[in-house]
Amino acid sequence: MTKRALLVIDMLNDFIEPEGSLSVGRAGEEIIGPIAREIRRFRGAGEPVIFICDHHLAADPEFSMFPVHCVKGTRGAEVIDALKPGEEDLVIPKRRYSAFFGTDLDLCLRELGVEELVLVGVCTNICVLYTACDARMRNYRVTVLEAGVASFDEEAHRFALTQMKNVLGVKVE
Ligand code: ZN
Repeated sequence: MTKRALLVIDMLNDFIEPEGSLSVGRAGEEIIGPIAREIRRFRGAGEPVIFICDHHLAADPEFSMFPVHCVKGTRGAEVIDALKPGEEDLVIPKRRYSAFFGTDLDLCLRELGVEELVLVGVCTNICVLYTACDARMRNYRVTVLEAGVASFDEEAHRFALTQMKNVLGVKVE
């Protein structure tokens, strides 16, 4: 059996709380339960859980496209209380859409001997999609849990799931 890791992407206050500066809204709240269950499963099986966290500079170039969000050191950049990382979990900050870009995620996965990733979190069409893309370019097997991903844009959410399945060879289940 290949070794797996669960990547919990951007389940942060600014994205998930209703008053967050870039809130996904109801769709974001609905995935909390399924993600919590998946985290319990992975921890119970001794499989790694890795939190991927948007972590921007105060004047990050990304804010020319999106409202200010997840600035490092602010409450908005923290994982929501319902899914707090445990001591055994890894927390990897990122400044771009892909969890691989400019981070030590690939190194961590290699050290753990991980070959297969299970992705949950937000947004399906942004950080989940580009992380799935970079993972597939590096030959990781990727599964996206449909009940565990969401976007503020339902049409883009659907497009991203189809694109990941048909073009990136991601298993959507
Ligand atoms: Zn961001």
